[in-house]
Amino acid sequence: PLSTNNRIEPQKICVCVRKRPLNKQEIIKKEIDVVSVPGKGALLVHEPKQKVDLTKYLENQVFQFDYSFDETTTNDLVYKFTAKPLVQSVFEGGMATCFAYGQTGSGKTHTMGGDFIGKQQNSTKGIYALAAQDVFTYLNHRRYANLELSAYVSFFEIYNGKVYDLLNKKAKLRVLEDDRQQVQVVGLEEVYVSTAEEVIKMIQMGSACRTSGQTSANANSSRSHAILQIVLRRNDRANTLHGKFSLVDLAGNERGTDVSSNDRSTLVETAEINRSLLALKECIRSLGMNSDHIPFRMSTLTKVLRDSFIGEKSRTCMIAMVSPGMASCEYTMNTLRYADRVK
Ligand code: ADP
Ligand code: MG
Repeated sequence: PLSTNNRIEPQKICVCVRKRPLNKQEIIKKEIDVVSVPGKGALLVHEPKQKVDLTKYLENQVFQFDYSFDETTTNDLVYKFTAKPLVQSVFEGGMATCFAYGQTGSGKTHTMGGDFIGKQQNSTKGIYALAAQDVFTYLNHRRYANLELSAYVSFFEIYNGKVYDLLNKKAKLRVLEDDRQQVQVVGLEEVYVSTAEEVIKMIQMGSACRTSGQTSANANSSRSHAILQIVLRRNDRANTLHGKFSLVDLAGNERGTDVSSNDRSTLVETAEINRSLLALKECIRSLGMNSDHIPFRMSTLTKVLRDSFIGEKSRTCMIAMVSPGMASCEYTMNTLRYADRVK
């Protein structure tokens, strides 16, 4: 995996789009597919710019991203062009983030957590697991052996601006900032892991924790951000931080446009999701501009990811998921506009 002809240099900011296929219900409803990705297969030669056509009211809207993945693309291939280059940067001492963004039902959890087979998720086939596998491949590789690193995993959820530890019975945790602007999630579990299988176990445990006790599993998880962190530490006395990879399954962005609800808790939730997604966009843009001013205090999400928006070695990738159906057109346009403005 480390051969040079296979290596894709991580960009500072990479923005991609992934279109999911029409699902069974949409096909039954004769839903029209309004998203097209021209130049199918060209992804394999990874031309730097691909296009997405979006037909709306007979008008073509054309967007350009670093990569556009059509409905036939596998998680493996998406991983190769998005998160995989970031794993390399983490070994080189970087702070990397990979975000799954989009409306509920567009494929964020499918991409990060793994393919669904019926209701069962195959967690060995998502970006979380693929990244974990590569982390251990590299840990055992002679190129990095002399660094003497160990891997640790954290998994938590941000709901309504509060942090809950998914590896510790959903304990509610405080986020503190010290006088040097260092942000800490106090008491966050960081579990030592020595194989990819152990990481996958953590992911399964945490994901189950994420949705339990709710009437509708997806309704709950779609309002929270889930953050899996793979942390590399040196095997020295202080276990010095070497690099960190944060993989984020973001809250559904459709609530940004849903202001029709009169329910107060829904309105609070909506405001919080809006705030965090707006903050995220601003922070990534600041990273892209090498700006000294990072508006990370705007939301809990950006606060806990603060270190990822500063520094020479920070890299980020956003995968914007879109549903293909005409009925989702409005949301799809919002997602594409957001992704378009990130870079
Ligand atoms: P989200 O997390 O964005 O709400 P999910 O990942 O739960 O969306 O996806 C919703 C449904 O669509 C799931 O049943 C999932 O299996 C399916 N799906 C999403 N993306 C794809 C894809 N690329 N290929 C096949 N099915 C997909
Ligand atoms: Mg989801």
